Parts: sequence; structure tokens; C-alpha cells
Amino acid sequence: MPLGYTFAMIKPSACRKNHVGPILAMINQSGFRISAIRSTKLNKEEAEHFYEIHKEKGFYDNLCEFMSSGPIIALLLEKENAIEDFRTLIGNTNPCMAEEGTIRKMFAESLQKNAVHGSDSVENAKREADYFFNERERY
Ligand code: ADP
Ligand code: MG
Repeated sequence: MPLGYTFAMIKPSACRKNHVGPILAMINQSGFRISAIRSTKLNKEEAEHFYEIHKEKGFYDNLCEFMSSGPIIALLLEKENAIEDFRTLIGNTNPCMAEEGTIRKMFAESLQKNAVHGSDSVENAKREADYFFNERERY
């Protein structure tokens, strides 16, 4: 039985451009229930921790700079097969390659500023959700 939730984030660029409402509407319309939600801001160290899997990559420092540049929306999303279905809803990491109708196709500004994050595995969904939300914040 696939994990029934995933962790997602609306990135600083999409928050700055007031895309939060339309993105949340697409998430709900696609059958995800919002189990927890919070607006918060990562500092550079927190962004580095969140993306530590990419620390050897050339884009890492710039990515962490960007991810700590303004508020983000953290989301715990509930749905059967949530991880895979959310990755389908957001589309390819590179918006140029994302399918029509996906969140990244509609709201990404660039490969880095690609509007949203979605967990890529059960292990990461658990790790990321636990980092942002305690039990009392999940309904
Ligand atoms: P995804 O977010 O689709 O899981 P990755 O885990 O590969 O993609 O990368 C994490 C984030 O790093 C991406 O969402 C994007 O913001 C940024 N990123 C990935 N590859 C590049 C790149 N080549 N140049 C700049 N930023 C990148
Ligand atoms: Mg990833």
C-alpha cells in the first residue's frame, strides 16, 4: 500500500508572485487533502539541510540562497499514492520539459524557480514532513 501522504512546498518565487491561491486550488482539485499547512521562512542553514542530498551539485549554493530568500508554504498532503501523484501534478523539474497543465508548466519561472517542491520517495516524504510539522499540526 503506497504512503498516503507527501510533503510539498510552494517556493519563494511563487509566493512572491501571489501564485499561492491558484496552486492550492489545483492541489485540491487534483484530489489532495491539505492535512497541514504553514507559511514560514527557511534560513540558509535550514535550506542547506533540506537539500543536503544535492550538496555536491553545482547548483546547490545558489539553490539554497534562493530557497532562503523569502517565505515558503509548507504542506502535508493526503491522498492515496500521494508521492507519485503529486510528482505527476507538478511535472518535470525543468519547466521547459513539463507537460501542459502541470503546476510547474503554469507557474515556474525557471529550472531553479520552479514554483513547487514535492517529495520523491517514502523516506524523504517522512523526513521532510517530520522536519516541518509535529503531530498537533496534522489533521
Ligand atoms: P525535483 O525538485 O524535481 O525533485 P531535484 O531534486 O533534482 O528536482 O532538484 C531540486 C531542486 O533544485 C529543483 O526543484 C530545482 O529548484 C533545483 N535544480 C535542479 N536542477 C537544477 C539545475 N540544473 N540548475 C539549477 N537549479 C536546479
Ligand atoms: Mg528532488
